[in-house]
Amino acid sequence: MYKYTEVEEKALLNAGTLGIKRYILSLDNHVSVVEALTAFCKEKNIYAGKISGLGAVNSATFRFLDPATLKYVDKTFEEQMEITNLTGNISEKDGKPYLHLHITASRRDYTCIGGHLLDARINGACELFVEGYLLTSVGRYQDPETGLNLYKF
Ligand code: FE
Repeated sequence: MYKYTEVEEKALLNAGTLGIKRYILSLDNHVSVVEALTAFCKEKNIYAGKISGLGAVNSATFRFLDPATLKYVDKTFEEQMEITNLTGNISEKDGKPYLHLHITASRRDYTCIGGHLLDARINGACELFVEGYLLTSVGRYQDPETGLNLYKF
């Protein structure tokens, strides 16, 4: 029914301190969200964790996986949008931090679009909380049934 990994247990370091690190992060203007966040996770050795944030972008590419065909449909929106919510998790794939991000973004007319985020370009600011679980690394595998990169426990 489910698979899981115990974060607290693995996060207890030898010194008896909890191996969870929390960061408040601000991305530079005009950077790629995925590039910047991946670089940050790499620098801080985060291969399991969570991300939440907000900000503003002028380009965002969404990805939709059609479950019937297992084909990806990507769509880029080139317009100014507020990130009303950016949420995601961090895992490890091919030795690198792997981000799984979802976004909801509001347009000039205050309607929202959203979905699985491939990448976005900051135009304004992007403020995030990143929580990294040290000594924990969660990998991914390609699941043939769903076509998704699922957690490998
Ligand atoms: Fe997704």
